[in-house]
Amino acid sequence: MTATELVDPVVFADRICRGIPQAIFFPRGRQRRAIEKAKAYCRVCPRLTHCAEWAQSRARSGALANCVIAAVHLPGTHKGQADRDAAAAELAEIAGRGVLLVSDVEGAA
Ligand code: SF4
Repeated sequence: MTATELVDPVVFADRICRGIPQAIFFPRGRQRRAIEKAKAYCRVCPRLTHCAEWAQSRARSGALANCVIAAVHLPGTHKGQADRDAAAAELAEIAGRGVLLVSDVEGAA
């Protein structure tokens, strides 16, 4: 199955970003705290690996930009292909986990 065949994560009722103001996932500029807050939501989302798989090709092509998805901050449209490829590689690493690691969850030990 390719990423383009995967269902859009917005259909999942149990996704953490459902019911949370979407602006949280679109932090302006490089505000580190805002970005980390959005990533923290994603890290406990039961759809994290699916979302990361779905987002990979879209991040690489620039179809998704200026947002946090699957715990990855995607570069803005002003950034180059190298930055988009790096974000896609980060998504691939997360998608490859397949499970949520304790180390992924802030505060868990
Ligand atoms: S991983 Fe993040 S962006 Fe993806 S569905 Fe879950 S909360 Fe939403």
